[in-house]
Amino acid sequence: MTLIAIGIESSADKLGVAIVNSDGEILANNVKTYKPGIGKGVIPRDAAEHHADNVSKLINLGLKQANITSADLDLICFTQGSGMGPCLRVDAVAARTLAVKLNKPIIGVNHQVAHVEIGKLIGQLDDPIALYVSGGNSQVIALAEGRYRVFGETLDIPIGNCLDVFGREMQFDNSEKPMGAVVEEYANMAKERGGDIFHELPYTVKGFDISFSGLLTAAIKLAKSGIPVDEVCFSLQETAFAMLTEVAERALAHTGKKELLVCGGVAANSRLKKMLEQMAEIHGAKFVGLPAPVAIDNGAMIAWNGILMHQAGHTQNIEDTLVRQRWRPEEVELIWLENEINNLI
Ligand code: AMP
Ligand code: MG
Repeated sequence: MTLIAIGIESSADKLGVAIVNSDGEILANNVKTYKPGIGKGVIPRDAAEHHADNVSKLINLGLKQANITSADLDLICFTQGSGMGPCLRVDAVAARTLAVKLNKPIIGVNHQVAHVEIGKLIGQLDDPIALYVSGGNSQVIALAEGRYRVFGETLDIPIGNCLDVFGREMQFDNSEKPMGAVVEEYANMAKERGGDIFHELPYTVKGFDISFSGLLTAAIKLAKSGIPVDEVCFSLQETAFAMLTEVAERALAHTGKKELLVCGGVAANSRLKKMLEQMAEIHGAKFVGLPAPVAIDNGAMIAWNGILMHQAGHTQNIEDTLVRQRWRPEEVELIWLENEINNLI
């Protein structure tokens, strides 16, 4: 029997609600982003207010697009962690309300693990190295010894945050598109002009880990020193993405896996995807860059991971749905992957 799940995600600045069925079909997948205004960062309490104001609308829109009513839902899935506390509480409260009202099972999903699982579904991957690059995370995640392990991650700020803060410092207008996409446009402008456009910036890789804060400070300083801002954007991208490609390559080489997935909002970047694709080719690995609607924070990944958990027999009481701000992927018991894990061992 085909199950229908709703997935609600509000761990950071985006509110996502999706309807997905157990055949892996995404029937609706809508995202609404909280915008703090030009030059400002995300204030968790304000973002949570935005999500609370919009969650009912997005649930109704999803049901309408999927051509179902709430009574047709078999499963209520929400992001339980990790993320910003006030924001997470919105998806948790919405999910609890639906689950109690409809008397349907509730499932709390781990955000990072869900990013990987939707990547496997959409990219038709079995066992990838996942480079998860977003506004709040920069991690290399892969299945090892029965868990999704974080092989490497940023030691300070995430790559998305690095691009966002740089853009804010440059007073770029990101009212029409994400700041990372604006930085990418400037970088492309420099590339088209050609010539001596690369300027050296700090490149910090420690084993599988990376650091972006020194790079950010140096890039801002470089732009303020009179170097054309598009050249700084180009140099920033080349340096940061080379660092990410290096750690992803190290993970591929270390594990011997043959699939590379890039997910998270920064996966929308063409230059990053090109670098990763070229590196994967050298290793004979299949490369998948996810399309934006399933790469950014979204409800579809939460619904899909919830379906996998439910089908593997996971059950959860309402009392066990408190949000987990710091829930790490390696803490998640992968009951839906038991066969794969046994085959690997
Ligand atoms: P997420 O946290 O996964 O929702 O992703 C949001 C992050 O993705 C923000 O930091 C955006 O600036 C970044 N982003 C979106 N589009 C692009 C792009 N084309 N290039 C680089 N970063 C991007
Ligand atoms: Mg995310």
